[in-house]
Formats: sequence, structure tokens, C-alpha cells
Amino acid sequence: MQRIGVIGTGYVGLVTAAVLADLGNKVVCQDSDLRKIKNLQKGIIPIYEPGLAKIVKKNIKAKRLSFTFNLPNLVNKSLVIFICVGTPSGKDGGADLSSVENVTHRIAQSMKEYKIIVEKSTVPVETGEWIRRTILMHNKCGIKFSIVSNPEFLREGSALEDALHPDRIVLGVEDERAEKVMRSLFKPIKAPIVVTNIKTAEMIKHASNSFLATKISFINAVARLCDKVGADVTKVAEGMGLDKRIQRAFLNAGAGFGGSCFPKDLEAFIYLAKKSGYDFGLLKEVARINKQQKQLLIKKIEEAVWIISGKTIGVLGLSFKPNTDDIRFSSSIDLIKMLQSDGAKIKAYDPQAMPKAKKELKNVKFCRDHYEVARNSDCLVIMTEWEQFRSMDLTRIKRLLRKPIIVDGRNIFQPKEMARLGFTYKCFGRV
Ligand code: NAD
Repeated sequence: MQRIGVIGTGYVGLVTAAVLADLGNKVVCQDSDLRKIKNLQKGIIPIYEPGLAKIVKKNIKAKRLSFTFNLPNLVNKSLVIFICVGTPSGKDGGADLSSVENVTHRIAQSMKEYKIIVEKSTVPVETGEWIRRTILMHNKCGIKFSIVSNPEFLREGSALEDALHPDRIVLGVEDERAEKVMRSLFKPIKAPIVVTNIKTAEMIKHASNSFLATKISFINAVARLCDKVGADVTKVAEGMGLDKRIQRAFLNAGAGFGGSCFPKDLEAFIYLAKKSGYDFGLLKEVARINKQQKQLLIKKIEEAVWIISGKTIGVLGLSFKPNTDDIRFSSSIDLIKMLQSDGAKIKAYDPQAMPKAKKELKNVKFCRDHYEVARNSDCLVIMTEWEQFRSMDLTRIKRLLRKPIIVDGRNIFQPKEMARLGFTYKCFGRV
């Protein structure tokens, strides 16, 4: 059993805390959002993540998991402190590390004995070094401490499964004491551990996300070519993906990637490269292709409905991917804003993301299900591949739509079958 503190109770912090508590550790979490902490103390979970509510409540009940607003209290109670605060994009494209700096500063002021400070937030290379300097500057008593980089690779929507069964655990460590504690902490999790220095661990995270984003933009570029020559990108992806060196994952063509990680981490990596004197042109192109995918989608809608202004467009899916309520940098939210600026009226539905989308979008008619969205819409656009959209009754959808048009930003249906059902069906790179 280890005493653990987790700062930041978002998607990463709360999942990390719940999993570590479930493994038998005593975990205390802190967040600067008082309302969040008050809710969590009552067992109210601020995010939708399958299975998370159950495991959080179980561990609160077992007194292994608790929540506080008081950071010094967390520091005093913990040997290992995970920093899981947000690192959004700054004005220049680099990561905004002000929350990381803020908590580091406060950890330093509260430390009375040896601590292991773990950066779990996604941060650019050299953040570990800044954390070290900040602690040395603000901890006047010269208390010993270790810095560890332990980047997180979980995916929203399957975060618990990913945290319990990761492909690998990366540990950037620079002393034996911290390495021993971290290895023992992760011992119950069966995964290869890559132990390296802090800078390399930081680089692994940014390089991994940028590579996955590259795969998506690559297949989207291939899909454009497929559209031009009459090939089927889903079969291209299948044929490529069976090659063990390539793998099928992240080869789904469509409306492009969004979410709180890929767009910002890609920008931050491009920025880091530039700052270090290297022009990472490849990644700039990845970002450019991704941006164009939404314009391409608008073009496909225009091809189907002709003039967008005055049309009612039904949008299915608001979250950036299925099984999450996260709408940060969601392609769907961007698309809705673009369609509205072109004069379209929007109806929308998402199984989980509507409360968050209601705060972000204006003049949208939020519906109770996909059938209500379809009713009297001129066109239906699929933006998130939720399972319930895959299995919807297409005959009923066709009856409800003003015109039988589906523009599929996620390639979830078969073009031939859609044609047989009488739809005008637009998708990405398929015959
Ligand atoms: P999030 O926005 O869901 O959560 C961040 C939390 O930190 C919020 O609850 C916020 O209130 C809190 N916070 C911000 N400033 C604080 C401060 N000064 N003191 C205490 N709490 C503070 O973010 P997230 O999605 O959990 O991501 C956290 C980090 O993990 C980011 O760096 C992200 O890039 C990285 N990451 C995210 C994912 C993912 O899928 N979401 C996956 C891997 C890595």
C-alpha cells in the first residue's frame, strides 16, 4: 500500500486515482475546482467514462479514495504526488503550463519530507527540469525529492481498461529510490515498463500522439485519392492493417481527429521542434490535412443538398469520439459552427455530450434521440460513431427525413446497402 496524491481530477486524474485506489493504495485527490471536489465527495462524477462511477464509489466507500480542496493536506498525506492538471494550447501553439507551474510551486511550499513528484500531464520536453528548478527555488528547507515522468496513454471511452491493461508503462526516472517506488506501485499491472530518463519519457508521449495523428491524416489523404480514382479506403486500410508492421488501428478515414489531446499535442510538438531549431514540416502537413477534412465534409454536404443556407441539417454525435462526453476540439462542434455561419439550421443529438454541448453551442435544437433529429431534416450528418447510430433503423430514418440524404463523417455504413435503401449517401473514399 502506498500513500498517493493526485492533483487534477479530470479524465486522467480521476481514472488514475480510482485505479490506484482499487489496487489497494490510499489515494487523496485535489482540484482547484471547488464544485467538482464537493460533488466528488458526495460520489457525483463530473465526467462520463464507462465504469468510472462504480469504481470511484466503491473506493470512496472502502476509504481508499478521498477528495480535498486543500493542496498542503494532500502533500502531507502522500509520498507519491501525481500532477494531472490540464495543459491546454497556449497562444503560440506551445503548451500552456501555468497550471503545472502553479501546483509545483505549491507542492514545494508544502513539502516537509521526501516526496516523489510525478508529471502525468502531457508536457513538452524539459518540463521535468522546470519542475525541479521550481521546487528547489520554493522549498527553502532543502527537503529531498525526486521527479518522475509517467506519461498517460489512456483513451477516453475506454480509460479504465487502458489504465488497468496498458500496452506499456513509461517511467522517466533519474534516481533509484523513485524508480523502486514507481515499479512497486505498478507491479500489479501486467505491462512492459520502459524506464528511461525524464526528457526521453516526455518525448515518448508527444511522439506517440503525433504519430497516431499522422496515421489518421495519412489515411484521410489516401481517402481523397480513393474518391478520385474509385477505390475503397476501408479495404485499403484493411489490406494495409493486416501487415503487422502497420496495424489497422487509426486508419479510419473521415471527418478528422479532434479531442483534448491530438490537436493540442500535435501543435505543441510542432512548436517544441521549432523552438529547438527543427522545422517539423511533416507534422504541419498532418495538421493541415486534418483541418481540410472538415471543409471537405462541408463540400460533401453541399454536393448532396446544394445550398446550405436555410436548410435543416441534423447532426448525430457531438463528442469527439464515442463513449465519452468530451467535446473539446470535437470535429462535430467545429462543423456545426461552420454550418451555422453558412446559414444552416441545426438539430443535434448525442447520447452523453449534450449537457456540455449546450454550454458551447447556440441556436441548436437538441433532440431526445436520432429519430427526432432526422424528422424534417434536409440531411443527416454522422459525426461520432456511437454504437446506437450504427444500429439505427434506417428505413425509419428515411421516412422521417425530408430528403433521404446521409453524409457520413465516420464511414459507418456500406455505400451499396445505403444505395439499395434509397439514400443519397456521401462518405469518405469509398465506392
Ligand atoms: P481535464 O481538463 O479533464 O482535467 C484537468 C483537471 O485539472 C481539471 O479538473 C481542472 O480543474 C484541474 N486543474 C487545473 N488547474 C489546476 C490547479 N492549478 N490545481 C489543481 N487542479 C487544477 O484534463 P485531462 O483530460 O484529464 O488531461 C490532463 C492531462 O493529461 C493533460 O495534460 C492531457 O493532455 C493529458 N492526457 C489526457 C488524456 C485524455 O484522454 N484526456 C490522455 C492522456 C494524457
